[in-house]
Amino acid sequence: MALIVQKYGGTSVGSLERITNVARKVIQHRGQGHDVVVVVSAMSGETDRLLRLAKEIDPHPNEREVDVLLSTGEQVTIALLAITLNKLGCPARSYTGAQVRILTDDAHTKARILDIDEERVRRDLNEGKVVIVAGFQGVDANGNITTLGRGGSDTTGVALAAALKADECQIYTDVDGVYSTDPRVVPNARRLDRITFEEMLEMASLGSKVLQIRSVEFAGKYSVPLRVLSSLVEGPGTLITYEDAQMEQPLISGIAFNRDEAKLTIVGVPDQPGVAYRILGPIGEANIEVDMIVQNVGADGTTDFTFTVHRNDFDKAMGILKNISNTLKAREVKGDNKIVKVSLVGVGMRSHAGIASKMFRALADHGINIQMISTSEIKISVVVDEKYLELGVRALHDSFGLEQKPEVAR
Ligand code: ADP
Ligand code: ASP
Ligand code: MG
Repeated sequence: MALIVQKYGGTSVGSLERITNVARKVIQHRGQGHDVVVVVSAMSGETDRLLRLAKEIDPHPNEREVDVLLSTGEQVTIALLAITLNKLGCPARSYTGAQVRILTDDAHTKARILDIDEERVRRDLNEGKVVIVAGFQGVDANGNITTLGRGGSDTTGVALAAALKADECQIYTDVDGVYSTDPRVVPNARRLDRITFEEMLEMASLGSKVLQIRSVEFAGKYSVPLRVLSSLVEGPGTLITYEDAQMEQPLISGIAFNRDEAKLTIVGVPDQPGVAYRILGPIGEANIEVDMIVQNVGADGTTDFTFTVHRNDFDKAMGILKNISNTLKAREVKGDNKIVKVSLVGVGMRSHAGIASKMFRALADHGINIQMISTSEIKISVVVDEKYLELGVRALHDSFGLEQKPEVAR
């Protein structure tokens, strides 16, 4: 007998019919003799709807109250699923994050889990019940409701699996696994049988929202066996694993992209010590996260300094740069919030040369201009105009041969 934590995302619980489908899957696993803990998201669209309501009142609503509001989405689904399971004759109990006591820090709207009290969950499991826990939410040391950031139910699932030392954490969603890239952009993308934690972490941080970054971090750190599957079609899904020395690693596992990017350039600043600090210091103080940074040396002793930020922070960052450009003696400040980042990810890159040039050629062949480049051991990212996102991703997917291979007739 195994202990399984199953997380069902918004689409998987998007209607009473879908909730019944989830209940049947839970009952099926229980029928195989397993203990099951279920984590659910809010019904699809609900978190967005609630956020819109708050923003209609105030574009920058009080974050403590936003958490009180958003946590209701998941509270609805835990109860509906528990009612459904009980009706189908399967004893079940639901708990909010605070009731379990998923203790978090007090960073409202992006809280981190500090500790999970698994006693109540264990007691119910021992009594033969299915335990249903609201995803995405917790409580801080002062009893305030917190939420874990968008997509946070994945992290609730993995954290519970870690706390309970579950045999597997299954993330059920609307695709049947992790694909070589988002199947909504490349319809013939390939489902991966497995992907390493390291690659999944890069994919998630570079924009693939199939798993929240923190859930992958947690799973890697606490060795939680993690699988992504569809709640609607049967199949093995994708296993997230450690790198296996025996196994030949694919060169490129996937392509990630991020539409939430914006770039800022401060043109013609004197090329002196301290310039980067004087530009990025105030940006950091304003709590704006900087991603890529490029600095060039001009011939005339001045330099251009470019960096990227989240698109939501673009206006704020432009304001700061305009304020400091005079004291910096810069010629000009330029900005562009119509850019995207496209990244190739693969552990096989470590031992292979020539990936970058192949990538750049594929983009050039399609007339796509590269505005910025950044690399690390297992990824290469480029910034391009947002109008080239789909074309760029498809071009790279093709040129690295990542498409679905047709079944070979036997
Ligand atoms: P859930 O509501 O179940 O948490 P999400 O919308 O958060 O579902 O995540 C699933 C979606 O992630 C898919 O519908 C797909 O469009 C998107 N996605 C992005 N990149 C990938 C990828 N590499 N593989 C699979 N899905 C991806
Ligand atoms: N309901 C939350 C969201 O939409 C959390 C989640 O679904 O994982 O972001
Ligand atoms: Mg999600």
